[in-house]
Amino acid sequence: SDRLFGGFRKTSERLSENLAGIVSQTRLSDDQLDEIEDALILSDLGPRAAARIRERLSGERFERGADEVSIKQAVAEEIAAILRPVAKPLEVVAFPRPQVILVIGVNGSGKTTTIAKLAHLFQEQDYGVMLAAGDTFRAAAIGQLAVWADRIGVPIVRGPEGGDPASIVFDAVKAATQQGIDALIVDTAGRLQNKRELMDELAKIRRVLGRLNPEAPHDVVLVLDATNGQNALQQIETFKEVAGVTGLIMTKLDGTARGGVLVAAAEQYGLPIHAIGVGEKIDDLRPFDPDLVSRVIA
Ligand code: GDP
Repeated sequence: SDRLFGGFRKTSERLSENLAGIVSQTRLSDDQLDEIEDALILSDLGPRAAARIRERLSGERFERGADEVSIKQAVAEEIAAILRPVAKPLEVVAFPRPQVILVIGVNGSGKTTTIAKLAHLFQEQDYGVMLAAGDTFRAAAIGQLAVWADRIGVPIVRGPEGGDPASIVFDAVKAATQQGIDALIVDTAGRLQNKRELMDELAKIRRVLGRLNPEAPHDVVLVLDATNGQNALQQIETFKEVAGVTGLIMTKLDGTARGGVLVAAAEQYGLPIHAIGVGEKIDDLRPFDPDLVSRVIA
């Protein structure tokens, strides 16, 4: 009867809708997934992050004939999923003050510039900042840090070239405590070619700090140069061993094609990423925004 046919018609409509869903949606082919994985590796995301993203994409459904834009969006979303858990700004929270932030990294990574940028950022947040010139190995390093300190108007504790970094750090913590400084940012030597010496030097700084405040250093921030690509990962490995690392800042992300290393670092180490450097000027330090970065990379 009419009623029966009416019922069947509805059933048939529902079935058509469901079938339409199946033909209009599809998974990416193995070839496509291979190509995406290769592209990610070539963009310095590294094999681990690339494999993880491939795996996740293989489970996703796309509109049949999915275009480049929708695949890119899916890749960006997977990259963001890796980056979101590690995005963590460096905050001045230590009590009692000062918060002691040890900054480590190889020479040329952008350590000095990043210290100045961080100091400037904290100043803008109304914190009292002090610098300590703990890289006494290079006279130029002390001078360069002093120039920045002067330019942005923050006090600096420095000693002679070849002086004992631990004693400078000791003096700096004393001065910072007396002056009610909120954040003390400590530059350190970056001579990784002499790993043993660097390790001893950093260990001594830690001992001295620990005597003044068992919580110090509160942060050990490793500065990495993105233009080093996958070598930056090796530096994380080494500095973790030499100094312990609590977070990362990656520099020179302006104009390098190797920014994908940020994703590799996040995937492999899970260390907090505090900020990124995007230029040589004092305000060229950006908060690390995983969604923005993932859209720029993909
Ligand atoms: P350090 O030896 O690790 O202390 O490195 P410096 O702070 O002296 O930086 C080395 C060079 O890299 C300098 O010419 C800086 O201006 C430059 N630099 C630092 N950070 C950035 C950045 O985020 N982008 C660009 N383009 N250059 C940077």
